[in-house]
Amino acid sequence: MTIPADFDCQTCGACCSYSSSWPRFSTETDAELDRLPARYVADDQAGMRCHDNRCSALDGTVGSGTSCLVYEIRPQVCRDCLPGDGECLEARAAYGFV
Ligand code: SF4
Ligand code: SF4
Repeated sequence: MTIPADFDCQTCGACCSYSSSWPRFSTETDAELDRLPARYVADDQAGMRCHDNRCSALDGTVGSGTSCLVYEIRPQVCRDCLPGDGECLEARAAYGFV
């Protein structure tokens, strides 16, 4: 897969703020969640803590400047979302990013 040259995750963040159409934020394993600070884990321990569709570990402003506060220990589902793949394109489209 070719990554579009203008897809810069650090000025996007759409896939970390869009969970309605794929099971993100609920597929993390217990081991993955145990590695994270409790403030980023949902009270029921079922996945990432979210505010609406936005992961609590996402810092910054979607479409402007974003970063993952747990990047080094982020769950596999986060690692699997790559710039230019189907989930990326769906999330970006939801925000009007082309
Ligand atoms: S939606 Fe795509 S470009 Fe945006 S942060 Fe996610 S993977 Fe990166
Ligand atoms: S843990 Fe990081 S990469 Fe995963 S959804 Fe949250 S902000 Fe995005």
